Amino acid sequence: MRRPLVAITATSRREAPTDPERLRLNAAYVDAIVRAGGIPVVTPPVAAEFAAALADRVDALLLTGGEDVAPSLFGAEPHPALGRVTPARDVWEIALVHAARQRRMATLGVCRGIQTLNVALGGTLIQDIPSALPDALVHEQPQPRDERTHVATVTPGSRLESLVGAEARVNSMHHQSIADLAPGFTVSAVAPDGVIEAVEWTADAWWCLGVQWHPEELDGADAKLFAALIAAATSAS
Ligand code: MN
Repeated sequence: MRRPLVAITATSRREAPTDPERLRLNAAYVDAIVRAGGIPVVTPPVAAEFAAALADRVDALLLTGGEDVAPSLFGAEPHPALGRVTPARDVWEIALVHAARQRRMATLGVCRGIQTLNVALGGTLIQDIPSALPDALVHEQPQPRDERTHVATVTPGSRLESLVGAEARVNSMHHQSIADLAPGFTVSAVAPDGVIEAVEWTADAWWCLGVQWHPEELDGADAKLFAALIAAATSAS
């Protein structure tokens, strides 16, 4: 089997005004792709015009977690509880989503990645779950990243169900979530408080899945998400 190349998005930012700007990516994403049989191609934010050329050369896209998506991109004013935004990263990743969509290139979005997918394709976000949904579960867990802290009910018959089963126990490290779903996506998992935890593309045969949790920090059924991304990348190429 030819090992597929998987573009993994990284961020670029300063931790303090006097620090140099540095590229950042949790190594767990790279490890998950390697374990699943892919070759990681770490891609920092660059000019959006490069997205098509990159998409022509790789076999799959992994949109990673990180900063909040700028609300202007979904027609909203910034909420006071909005976190750090990285406009150059937003523009780059949205261009990558469109390039992947045009090519029907296998795409997995994680945490910020599910939000990027939804915004890129016309959806909106809840900017701060505790502000918008005061009775919501704790979605920014204080526990370690590899601890599963809440459940998510998986949509019967969904692609996600075939991977993780009818109920997923997930970790949770987000304060934003999907509000209005972009056309073409179907909700594939929901937390008990109604927060959307996963979506998948059902408008046509594009393999595109987004999860609000962090499967790269988990083992067991969650490794199947990366295996499925690699399988979809391999079958399409
Ligand atoms: Mn959650």
